[in-house]
Amino acid sequence: MRPALVQGFHRVPDLPALQAALAAHAALVQPFELGRSVNGTAILGVRLTAPGDSGQRVRVLVDGGIHGNEVYGAESAVYLAAWLAENYGRNATATRILQQDDVRLVFLLNPDGRAGDHRENAHGVDLNRNFDVDFGNPNPLCRSQSISPAVPYYYAGPRPLSEPETAALAAYMQELEPQLYLSHHTGRHAVIRPWAACDPPYPMPAADDALFESIESWVSNHTTYKNTGTAEETAKRERLFPPGAASGSSTDWCYLTYHCVALTLEVTMAYGEGGGDPVGIAEEALPVSVHMLEHAADYAAWRAPSG
Ligand SMILES: [Zn+2]
Repeated sequence: MRPALVQGFHRVPDLPALQAALAAHAALVQPFELGRSVNGTAILGVRLTAPGDSGQRVRVLVDGGIHGNEVYGAESAVYLAAWLAENYGRNATATRILQQDDVRLVFLLNPDGRAGDHRENAHGVDLNRNFDVDFGNPNPLCRSQSISPAVPYYYAGPRPLSEPETAALAAYMQELEPQLYLSHHTGRHAVIRPWAACDPPYPMPAADDALFESIESWVSNHTTYKNTGTAEETAKRERLFPPGAASGSSTDWCYLTYHCVALTLEVTMAYGEGGGDPVGIAEEALPVSVHMLEHAADYAAWRAPSG
């Protein structure tokens, strides 16, 4: 069922009312403030889980909008929250997810970037390069991060977790120790898994690699998100800006620090609000996140789901 709460875009001033409307599902939803942006805007989220003992549930973190102009990423995270809250008790999958998972969902990590329609935060930092994994790799072949503030778009910041938005997310992760982490972006039509870093800290163990491969394979076989070839080939095919691995990402950091199963969902190519109806795009992305949440216990055990 399409949730009634999602119609059109949710701009920064709309999010407190959205959070309050979700929190009206009081048995399922608890609102929280993750922290504040550079400009002092509250970064809002909701915890979604069924009534009862949540102690044994899988700890899931979902976010959107770490890149401010990736509007449809944030909209897809919002949609997922509303879909879960409104379908609990009506749809068997949504019900099962909230009985099994303890979901923490942040609507929009970079409200200043969203308000100004730019990728970076209000300090000009690319927040998804600001985590401490191969931070700011200066190798010129690693084109998607920079340690120079003179390089726009990919500036990693003066040091890891220098920004209030990333520091807040990292502190929240430290408390939660996520077992599954889904981060919604745009700019591609694909899923991206660790390592994203140009020079990863260590080679991925074969068992981890096999699980990520099984996720990519499921996504390719069951959704519109087709992953074929290397990141470089994908970037060329999709006519992206110069391709290159991304060091300092939140997903790599979650995988490195908490051995969480981390996935970037690139929900659509478009930046800004020019890509069409956000509800339609969120509905296209929904099967990926729903599948991941439904099988979160398997992922938490680093086991490929059988179904
Ligand atoms: Zn992004």
